[in-house]
Amino acid sequence: MSELDDLYQEVILDHYKRPRNWGRLAAPDREVVGHNPLCGDRITIQVQLDGDVIKDLRVEGSGCAISTASASLMTEAVKGKSMAEAEKLFAGFHDLVTGKGDPAGAALGKLAAFGGISEYPARVKCAALAWHALHSALQGKSETISTEDDHG
Ligand code: ZN
Repeated sequence: MSELDDLYQEVILDHYKRPRNWGRLAAPDREVVGHNPLCGDRITIQVQLDGDVIKDLRVEGSGCAISTASASLMTEAVKGKSMAEAEKLFAGFHDLVTGKGDPAGAALGKLAAFGGISEYPARVKCAALAWHALHSALQGKSETISTEDDHG
């Protein structure tokens, strides 16, 4: 657990212990399961759309602290946003956790808590899992996505 201590910032712990928007929607427009076989994380993302706006979304499943907290923070970040805005956040978040981008320029808010993840490549997939599932759902796909199919 020692390597993770650095990652367990207060905001991540908070969202792990009390994940937001957790559960299921009555009538989701989109639903995608995300699986990270390396860690065993498996989460379901459900999205309710209003035009091109993410009106509501829920996450359910089981995973490690990082994947759970990331999914929770994602729901807060994209709820009420347009699909284009959500994709922009995903791009910024992906750059942040893979160490490619400039976090200061991405307006990521609380998502910046995951900045230290880039030091731990195995954990990047945990942090990005919910975002990959959301991305797939917004594209209208419904197949289960696996982080092992992601070459980005
Ligand atoms: Zn994980």
